[in-house]
Amino acid sequence: MARIRNLRISVRRVTLRWTLVSCVAPFGTELGTTPAHADYLEGGMSTPVFSIQTYGVNDTWANWFNGARHRWNDTPTPASIRRTIKDVPRDITAGRYDDSWSGNYMYAGTRERRTFLIRVNARRLAEEIEPGGRGFALAAIGTSVHELGHALSLADNPETSRSSIMKYSRPLTRTHPYDYDIDEVNRIY
Ligand SMILES: [Zn+2]
Repeated sequence: MARIRNLRISVRRVTLRWTLVSCVAPFGTELGTTPAHADYLEGGMSTPVFSIQTYGVNDTWANWFNGARHRWNDTPTPASIRRTIKDVPRDITAGRYDDSWSGNYMYAGTRERRTFLIRVNARRLAEEIEPGGRGFALAAIGTSVHELGHALSLADNPETSRSSIMKYSRPLTRTHPYDYDIDEVNRIY
């Protein structure tokens, strides 16, 4: 379990046992970890219809998170990810984390009562793409789409020759789930 910092989780959740899915980015550099190969992540939601809340980000990031939700919601799958201002145990945020991962999906609880926290590492993305431009926006959205893919039970680096938003080798600025991802969500749900 990696260190957990800058983590705002409610008191009722601090006692949960968390599992970390650290997502290295498609940066072309070897980061020293061997990713597990599996197509299905038990740590996802039991349903593709759920709400998330954002916190600790400005309007720009909030819009990018909205864009990521819509990338999934616009697919021909049952995925329907809404944003709520209520306190739900499913958070997405961004920050400048001093870690090598570009994104991070932490989950706890049972599949039926899933809690998760998504963090996008703005510092890591900025090492690859100049902030302020369209490329950075796409990378932020694409990373968020990848992390939301975990909430939809997709695992990192699926064993397939087809393209996938879950592969580390995907283009960093890719924001739309691929046909493989759509097929997998439809298979699981
Ligand atoms: Zn991942």
